[in-house]
Amino acid sequence: NAVCEVDTHLSALELLYVCQAIETKQHRVREKKWGARTIDLDIITYGVQVIASKQLIVPHPEMMNRGFVLVPLAEIEPNFKVPVLGPIQALIDKLDISALIKL
Ligand code: AMP
Repeated sequence: NAVCEVDTHLSALELLYVCQAIETKQHRVREKKWGARTIDLDIITYGVQVIASKQLIVPHPEMMNRGFVLVPLAEIEPNFKVPVLGPIQALIDKLDISALIKL
């Protein structure tokens, strides 16, 4: 798992479509080369926006339960205040992240 920060002119929904296009392309390439492999790209947050549409929920509804999302996110934005959910470090403190291994 990995988290990256992106600067974009795309709207959140446009960004989701780009992610989905990348997923589709990766699925196709990997099936030909090495058999079944998957990639899963999620939008975790999008600035300060709070979105709850049929296609897109931001902040991601499972982010607060996923140490493998929160810990790398905190590495790149340690003081990040997640819209609605609050400071990233407070979210991490609620989880047992002892099993996380940094690669
Ligand atoms: P999954 O492949 O299991 O991650 O689910 C993808 C589906 O979740 C797509 O149909 C998206 O429209 C929807 N979705 C809702 N919120 C998000 C989000 N924050 N990031 C990525 N996909 C999302």
